[in-house]
Amino acid sequence: MKEQLYTIPLNDAVNAGDECPFCYIERSVEQDLLDFVLGSSASYMEADIRDMTDRAGFCRTHFRKMFDYGNTLGNAWILKTHYRRMIGEMQQTFAGFKPGRTSLKDRLKKTDGSSNAIGAWVREKNDSCYICSQFKDTYDRYMDTFFYLWKQDPDFRRRIKESKGFCLTHFGELCEASDAKLSDREKNEFYETMMPLMESNMQRVAEDVAWMVEKFDYRNKNADWKNSRDAIQRGMQKLKGGYPADPPFKMSK
Ligand SMILES: [Zn+2]
Ligand SMILES: [Zn+2]
Repeated sequence: MKEQLYTIPLNDAVNAGDECPFCYIERSVEQDLLDFVLGSSASYMEADIRDMTDRAGFCRTHFRKMFDYGNTLGNAWILKTHYRRMIGEMQQTFAGFKPGRTSLKDRLKKTDGSSNAIGAWVREKNDSCYICSQFKDTYDRYMDTFFYLWKQDPDFRRRIKESKGFCLTHFGELCEASDAKLSDREKNEFYETMMPLMESNMQRVAEDVAWMVEKFDYRNKNADWKNSRDAIQRGMQKLKGGYPADPPFKMSK
């Protein structure tokens, strides 16, 4: 495999014992990217990096995280030249726009609005994010690493079998990646492990959530919390991924 493999961070993520090792990786890669974009290395002052962020822009989620990160001057620099580019693109889109151009046929078709050139440009911009695209490249290599270790390292496989499984979002992505990464025989083994693992761990989290409800009954006032103290955040994570209870990630002073 010519791409670099991320065996050490992936092993760390599995050893962390969270609800999902890919959530753990997602958080750490995203934080590294925020540090890269806005952190003390000031890569936003480098022309080639800013050219890339000018073109790609950022999605709503990452603008929010960049705001929370807290480097006001860095954000201002990034926005300043990104605005210049956006206004240029907007002028071009407006110049080529003919309001009457939509044919009757287009209007009768139930479209998602993509026949409107301005709408299409805005949509393209909303789908474009420097952090999301950098993240995706790195994340894909973690997927490769997962299947490399799954096939090569019996100890890794054992630790996955004994783990808490994955969140549903990342499990779906893992299943999709497995189509290209595993032979038919390997797929059978994979699902024989993964399906019971996912089912038992969804049950476990469901029980933690259910016990939290019971705990609010005054008769259980003195009962043990068991594993329910953080059942809300883990219950949400197991279904959709991420860490709902995390505070905003901020620039280290
Ligand atoms: Zn996850
Ligand atoms: Zn993004």
